[in-house]
Amino acid sequence: MSLVRAYTATSPNASLTPGTIERRELGPQDVLIDIAYAGVCHSDLHVVRGEWGEVPYPLTAGHEIAGMVAEVGPDVTRYQVGDRVGVGCMVDSCRECAHCEAGEEQYCLRGCTDTYAGLDRDGSVTQGGYSERIVVDERFVLRVPDSIPFERAAPLLCAGITTYSPLRRWNAGPGTKVAVVGLGGLGHMAVKFAHALGAQVTVFSQNLKKWEDGLRFGATYYHATDDPAVFELSAGTFDLVINTVSASIDLNSYLNLLAVDGTLVNVGAPPEPAPVSVFGLINNRRSLSGSKIGGIAQTQEMLDFCAEHGIAPQVEVISVDQVNEAWERVLASDVRYRFVIDIATLRRD
Ligand code: NAP
Ligand code: ZN
Ligand code: ZN
Repeated sequence: MSLVRAYTATSPNASLTPGTIERRELGPQDVLIDIAYAGVCHSDLHVVRGEWGEVPYPLTAGHEIAGMVAEVGPDVTRYQVGDRVGVGCMVDSCRECAHCEAGEEQYCLRGCTDTYAGLDRDGSVTQGGYSERIVVDERFVLRVPDSIPFERAAPLLCAGITTYSPLRRWNAGPGTKVAVVGLGGLGHMAVKFAHALGAQVTVFSQNLKKWEDGLRFGATYYHATDDPAVFELSAGTFDLVINTVSASIDLNSYLNLLAVDGTLVNVGAPPEPAPVSVFGLINNRRSLSGSKIGGIAQTQEMLDFCAEHGIAPQVEVISVDQVNEAWERVLASDVRYRFVIDIATLRRD
């Protein structure tokens, strides 16, 4: 066991503070990663602030991790010291159920092990990436292509795969119209991916503040939802609506935007239940779905797709002592478009 520096939460509303956490000794198939950057996902706030359930404090958040392999266990075959790697939202799963076999470990029948606040095989609580180092089984480690700098690779491990996966599943591509609701960390990646896949993209944001960015990311149209007329003008238009909003919104307004056989995929995860009118589904034979991150194989596919198409998130790099302020800005929808913590600043004395 070793102690590493980390930024840790001890209660729902207190600031994150510097401390130490334990990392297990390297097992035969474990990889020790020196973390270079860790992204700030809105899920970090939901979890730490107790919005999704009980929290095992003290807790270190962070599931958008990029860095360098520092050491490998004796049976590791896929990685070597010095490799550029990433870790996302899962660090383990049962490895043998039908979903794990199919490469969809996020839907493991026994539940995948979250990167933080999860229950590890040894009974300990997993701790995330706002820390110097992490130990992860090689099966849950991703290879970061050389062309993607670490600070821009980190957010791909959650915001990237969470938007790439439903776009692939619902066949976003040439001839399809995709709406992206919310232009934050996930939303801006959804726009980039949908555009790269060849779809026509429309952003629905609360206002027009990020209009130019939205078009630069690849959207053709950009609507402000503070004008109710946009919902009438766009009714029945889209094949796919990806809702990335972190708060409760009226899903019925967005179901109504779908064409015949269109699907609204909810990736945003506010804790409150959302009332849905069945008539919004009956009309146009629409579907309402959700989607959780993506499997390990598809995460690697997404990273390679990003390298091939020159896609990466727009990030604002912060030092670790700015993380509390960054969280407040995330809550205020004041993020352009992902905060990423420079973990070197955690190593300073
Ligand atoms: P984020 O960067 O904060 O972006 C959320 C965006 O939603 C904001 O930028 C804002 O966009 C919009 N928004 C926020 N509050 C709103 C409100 N009250 N009404 C309308 N729009 C609002 O968050 P994120 O990191 O992208 O995460 C988004 C959500 O996805 C979170 O709930 C997170 O937990 C969830 N998530 C789910 C998965 C999964 O596997 N399904 C994975 C990762 C994250 P505009 O300013 O453009 O309106
Ligand atoms: Zn996340
Ligand atoms: Zn499984």
